[in-house]
Amino acid sequence: MKNLYLICFFTISTFAFSQRNYEQSLEEAKAFGSFKSAENNLLDAEYKPEYYRLEMNLNPNQLDYSGKTTMHFTTTSDLNQIKINAQPNLSIASITYHSNTITDFSRAENVLTIQLPETIPNNQLDSITISFSGEANSTSNGLKRGFHEEVPVMETISEPWHGSSWWVCKDDLIDKVEKLDVYITHPTEFKVASNGLLKSVTAIGNGNSKTHWQHNYPITTYLVAIAVTNYAEYNNSVTINGTNVPIVNYLYPETLSNWTASLDQVPSYIEFLSEKWGDYPYKQEKYGHAQWNRGGGMEHATMSFMGNFNFGLVGHELAHQWFGDQVTCGTWHDIWLNEGFAEYGDGLLTQNVYGDNEFSNWKEYNIGLITAENFGSVYNPEAENQSRIFNYRLTYAKGSMAVHLIRYILNDDELFFQSCRDFLNNPEFTYNYAVTEDLKMSLENSTGMNWDDYFADWIYGEGHPIFDVKVHKISNSNQVTVTFNQTTSHNSVSFFQTPFEIEFRGGNGESTTRRFNLTENGQSFIVNDLPFPTTSFIPNPKFDVICQINSTVLNNEEFELNNSNQAKLYPNPAKAQFTIENKQPINEIKVFDASGKAIYNVKGLNDTKIQIKTNSWPTGIYMVQIHSGVGIQLKKLLIE
Ligand SMILES: [Zn+2]
Repeated sequence: MKNLYLICFFTISTFAFSQRNYEQSLEEAKAFGSFKSAENNLLDAEYKPEYYRLEMNLNPNQLDYSGKTTMHFTTTSDLNQIKINAQPNLSIASITYHSNTITDFSRAENVLTIQLPETIPNNQLDSITISFSGEANSTSNGLKRGFHEEVPVMETISEPWHGSSWWVCKDDLIDKVEKLDVYITHPTEFKVASNGLLKSVTAIGNGNSKTHWQHNYPITTYLVAIAVTNYAEYNNSVTINGTNVPIVNYLYPETLSNWTASLDQVPSYIEFLSEKWGDYPYKQEKYGHAQWNRGGGMEHATMSFMGNFNFGLVGHELAHQWFGDQVTCGTWHDIWLNEGFAEYGDGLLTQNVYGDNEFSNWKEYNIGLITAENFGSVYNPEAENQSRIFNYRLTYAKGSMAVHLIRYILNDDELFFQSCRDFLNNPEFTYNYAVTEDLKMSLENSTGMNWDDYFADWIYGEGHPIFDVKVHKISNSNQVTVTFNQTTSHNSVSFFQTPFEIEFRGGNGESTTRRFNLTENGQSFIVNDLPFPTTSFIPNPKFDVICQINSTVLNNEEFELNNSNQAKLYPNPAKAQFTIENKQPINEIKVFDASGKAIYNVKGLNDTKIQIKTNSWPTGIYMVQIHSGVGIQLKKLLIE
């Protein structure tokens, strides 16, 4: 989902936009006001729903509607009652079981409990039909009635847990049914948009028709959707791996011509994302859009509901068909698996369509949003708080930049996209659900790397790193040393581990970029392969890492001052040992290898002359940090 909610809180005048209008891409669907417990929907119900047939009478000219849910289910223990979600605004008209009417049922909050006439044994397939009625509302979640140019439209929005406010269903994330049939009776002048394939539209008399949509992929309840109005249809198609996939667009007739150029680009976006993430997940059915009467969009399976058809929103909702619909977050704690990846889908399309510079602008914009506050994690600690679930800064912006960081850490696009496909195609997750730890396990399997620190720092931890970067030029050479100091904006993370790039620039327009692997605070690196003298440098030049830069210092003075206060280090080059002498007592010595890894550290010395054995050190260049009461000195050491 994507909505119109927060963007007004940010002043973004400092960001330069060349082609993309990011404000459009950040539109939010609505102001989420209501706070309601998601836990209410986690039923203690010992059955698994297998199939829903949803039949409804929807006439947008009136607010009243009625409907009927037929659910097929498999018992997971001996069962003498059925618990299912029906929110208090829904009236229950009748319940039918094995052709008999059941009158023994009770309701508490959003749970309907139906007493069965006999116990159903474990592991048995059975079915039940529940008829209901309700009234469309004008503003909130669930089934809404609105108007476009005085024509009424009825439409649904269910995420996160509002499905059971307009139809009776087991309304949770983890019970995907294998198949869905939607039958809508409606005035013949209107069309119905829904999931899956359009099977039939049949005139049934009295000016009414019945429209049948069928979806033959597993689907969770919040992705089931219906919209009814006087839609105009505008269609495209795309061929994915030999399969022709229709792209079905239902738009308000008065605005259709505004959006056809944008809609004509959608086949190329589906091709691109299919190449990166695997075939479009619903290629046997369709992709499509239905215009709705609110801002933003919602990624209903095979048919996103859209307030506009701008680039960012189209890309985001399309990307959800993989991340959100094919693999659904397993709890609302894990919503970033939907929204972070969908938003990164917008980033990938931005890079593909507009190029690397525009992609840098996209990342810079997100970093600006994220670092406007010091706190907050990608992982959502408040699963029952709707406004936290859809917190744009954390779930979307930080979530998408956390996905980008996976790509940046890997530094290998083939491996990154293979890792995405491995996650999406994992038999346990595909057309099912996954939680944050599942992604971690999947990444570890795909990459052979340990992702503990990444998840601790960037997903579960709050805030971001703040860097002070110093570059010292070494006299009579192009060589420099680079020292990174990091503080963090939030005390939940003491140090953010990350790769980090510096772009070095010369006086004649030259530039070159080097990558450093930051694993602990205060690391120093030698860069001895620069082809020109450095006159300036840019940290994080392509905005790959979520961070703030507090200070940059380029020391143009000779680094190795011939000064009596300088420490002496000899012999240099050294073989089996070297000695450091300093006027002030030395407290600590730290030695880094050429990759920036600390290989030696000794503290509490309090001596002016220290001897260090180096027999076991590989030959090469090292940086020696000498800490004394008057500061820290850096010395380059060569071991032969
Ligand atoms: Zn979304």
